[in-house]
Amino acid sequence: MKVLVINAGSSSLKYQLLDTGSREVLAKGLCERIGIDGKFTYKAPGKPTVDAADVTMPTHAEAIQAVLAALVNPEGGVISSMGEIDAVGHRVVHGAETFACSVRIDGKVMASLEECVPLAPLHNPANITGIKACSKVMGPDVPQVAVFDTAFHQTMPPVAYTYPLPYEYYEQDKVRRYGFHGTSHRYVAQRAADMLGKPIETLKLISCHLGNGSSIAAVSGGKSVDTSMGFTPLAGLPMGTRSGDLDAGILEYLMGRHGMDIKEMVSVLNKKSGVLGVSGVSSDFRDLCAARDQGNARAALALDMFTYGVKKYIGAYAAAMGGVDAIIFTAGVGENDAQQRMAIASGLEFMGVKMDPDANNIRGKEAIISAIDSKVKVLLIPTNEELMIALDTAELA
Ligand code: ADP
Repeated sequence: MKVLVINAGSSSLKYQLLDTGSREVLAKGLCERIGIDGKFTYKAPGKPTVDAADVTMPTHAEAIQAVLAALVNPEGGVISSMGEIDAVGHRVVHGAETFACSVRIDGKVMASLEECVPLAPLHNPANITGIKACSKVMGPDVPQVAVFDTAFHQTMPPVAYTYPLPYEYYEQDKVRRYGFHGTSHRYVAQRAADMLGKPIETLKLISCHLGNGSSIAAVSGGKSVDTSMGFTPLAGLPMGTRSGDLDAGILEYLMGRHGMDIKEMVSVLNKKSGVLGVSGVSSDFRDLCAARDQGNARAALALDMFTYGVKKYIGAYAAAMGGVDAIIFTAGVGENDAQQRMAIASGLEFMGVKMDPDANNIRGKEAIISAIDSKVKVLLIPTNEELMIALDTAELA
């Protein structure tokens, strides 16, 4: 089956055309600056690449049109007509408690997606716009599927998802831990079971998705039982620019001292905090490592805080699950930064983690990076959310 995977943002749209039989990426690219001055990129193996500026894209509908035009283009295209696209899979950020798995989109689902908007006011409207743009351009007969970032974590028990707040905030306002990166955690957990040659139902896994945004999930028997992100993706670990967990009492204190309103405060927590805020150098781990290696103490502190944060979650989730069979590293930092992986795993020997430094000296490839005699296996697994979305879409379309 040929599935077009769409990840729509407010002014951008990432796309991939995948063959779910061979699991091959036929073409992929990015529409950026939608509604501004339209930038379009397209890449397909063995075909001329497109990298165009000033493409007319007043809305997401024109962006989808540009994608389809590139896909069927006689020179660079990979299909002969739009009819070859069997289905479209959309990444949708928030599915609330309504969606515990991926769904085929119909009128009822669209209405429910609208209801989820208050929970993800920045992301869900863009996802909805992407879905509407596809219906408009491709017609109502092409099946569309929504795959949610939150869905995998819907198996968390109340003890993990309830906040210690007045209970009516959960009942009336839906305030609870939802968790994000669910598609990534689900994908790597399944791959881990495949790599270990064991049924996922028998495994206790800790999945560390460490990128610009980072989250950790405890996956027991194939089900998410806890995760570090919360009501929003601001919770948990210190990230590139997000603070992660902190004492809520700090907010009132800082807002008073600096005359900030809540919007300004939350913007600081989302955009100026995390390893960027602590280091004052960058949100990118490559820049931080370079700065640390040149003796920058705050860059070193930011990196150490990140390592320490991940380590604490690993300990906590091993305790929550009553053990751990494997720890998975994925996403930008997890897949590429051998030093960070080593620093996280070192000191965990007491719980049966023993790294193989040579095996760990690798980037972006599936590998077992723990020593042969390590009781807890450590795995590097590049994430592939697009493939997961495509496979769900093929199943439901
Ligand atoms: P996002 O959360 O935006 O999807 P990614 O998973 O793509 O992020 O991760 C991006 C981050 O990965 C970058 O900010 C960078 O810090 C980190 N990264 C990428 N390559 C390397 C590398 N070789 N060494 C260390 N960090 C890296």
